[in-house]
This record gives sequence, C-alpha cells and structure tokens, in this order.
Amino acid sequence: MRCSLCRGEMIRSTTTLPYKISGGHIVVVKYVPALVCRQCGESFIEIEIVRKLEHIADAAEKSDIISGFITYKEAA
Ligand SMILES: [Zn+2]
Repeated sequence: MRCSLCRGEMIRSTTTLPYKISGGHIVVVKYVPALVCRQCGESFIEIEIVRKLEHIADAAEKSDIISGFITYKEAA
C-alpha cells in the first residue's frame, strides 16, 4: 500500500488517536495499530480497527471515563 498524499511507502506501526465521545469529551487511544507513511508520517487506520475504536469509545462512555488515555491493546 502507498501513501495517498505522497505515494511513499506505508509501514505497519502504531499511532495515538484522539477520539470524540458524547458530551464533547475526548479520550486519547494509544498504540492504535496503523499504517504510517515513511516519508510524510500520514497514518491510515483500517476499517476493522476503526470499528474496534468505536467499541472502546462506547465502553469508555459506559464506564464514565470522560477524558484521558486508553491503551488500545488493553481495551481491545
Ligand atoms: Zn506520505
């Protein structure tokens, strides 16, 4: 897979992703698996990971986490 911005090589890595939940709160999910461009740093997150992030955000809302950091690996 090539970067959509610069056509650089995408490598498997992890990224940190802010995720908006209800009430305008934001949780920051760390160590999210992603493809990251070697040249420009653009990251691409696959659809199944995005779905999982939605579950993590849901769970955070239900457990009354209104802001803060969640580690993807621990939550998944
Ligand atoms: Zn790029």
